[in-house]
Parts: sequence; C-alpha cells; structure tokens
Amino acid sequence: MKLVFATNNPNKLSEIQALVPQGIEILSLKEINCNEELPETNPTLEGNALQKAKYVYDNYGYNCFADDTGLEIEALNGEPGVYSARYAGEDCKAEDNMQKVLTKLENEENRNAKFRTVIALIIKGEENLFEGECNGKITKTKSGAEGFGYDPIFTPENYEITFAEMSKQEKGAISHRGRAVAKLVEFLK
Ligand code: IMP
Repeated sequence: MKLVFATNNPNKLSEIQALVPQGIEILSLKEINCNEELPETNPTLEGNALQKAKYVYDNYGYNCFADDTGLEIEALNGEPGVYSARYAGEDCKAEDNMQKVLTKLENEENRNAKFRTVIALIIKGEENLFEGECNGKITKTKSGAEGFGYDPIFTPENYEITFAEMSKQEKGAISHRGRAVAKLVEFLK
C-alpha cells in the first residue's frame, strides 16, 4: 500500500518512515511533485491535520495522511498549543521558540507539559483521525542534539533525558507521534 505523508518537515518524515511496517510505502510530497507550502489555518490540531491531508487528496488524488502537533504547557494555560510552530513570531526558528518557553517559565515550579499529535488519514475520500499524547516536563536548559523542534527542552514522563538525547527509535516508542502512528498502523491492518 502506498500512502503520501503530507508534510514538508524532513524530521517528521524520517521519524514516521522508521515506525511503519514493510508493506506500507510512505511517499513524500517531493515524490509526488508537490512543492508548495500546505495550508494550515485552523484553530485546532484536528482542523489543521485534516486541512493538510485534504489539500493533498483534492489536488493530487493520492491516499494520504497529515499530522499536526502542539506542545501544551500547563503553567501557560496550554500555550503554545496549536501555535507551537510560530510561538516566537512568523518565520521564527526552533531556537527562538524554545527560548521563549524557557523565559516564560523562568520562575515557574510547575514544568508539566504534554505533546499532542493528531493524524488525519484520507483513503478514497474517507476521513479518519488518530491521536497520540506524551506527558512530560519542560527542562530548565536545553540538552541533546537529536530530533527537532522543542525536543531539547522536553523530558518525557519516567525519563531523565530529553527527546533530543534519544535515538529516533527510542523517541518513537513513547512519543505522541509514535502513539498516533501505532493507531494508524493498527487501523490500516
Ligand atoms: P507542526 O505539527 O508541524 O505544526 O508542528 C508544530 C510545532 O511543534 C513546530 O514548531 C515543530 O517543530 C514542533 N514539533 C512538532 N512535533 C514535535 C516533536 O516531536 N518534538 C518537538 N517539537 C515538535
């Protein structure tokens, strides 16, 4: 079975390729000659995931899925949430976003946070959603060079190291995206 993963994020693509079993071939947007930015203008993760998947299905005709992820920090009332990508402003880098979080939590004892991923799958026009969460804490400083986004400042529950100090496989086994993908794979079986 061939499925397009509607993302322009090479880190997400390689994480997911490492998680799906043989028999499911994941195609990138480049491989179907889709080179444009995907629209992502909804106020919810569910809405954005569906919007990205629908865009590819409607314009390119491939069965596909898309994910949308947010980091929800308890002491910041769930911020940055659906705005995680642009938390420090349009065109900001992961470094800027992490710095903004660390500054906002400077004098905060409650470091609880969670990542939430929603995957939207469209097969022959039929839509399905799968969700995965990972609870953890925001660290006081950045650690590690693996992964992407907020990984250097997030320690998952029951661990002493950040996502950025884990291999792709280790992160995938417990991460929000890994858990959502496991549900997707179960559905496809
Ligand atoms: P989006 O799902 O591409 O919209 O991601 C929103 C923001 O969350 C981006 O800034 C990503 O870098 C960040 N993000 C998404 N997934 C992860 C992850 O697994 N670890 C750390 N940051 C992530």
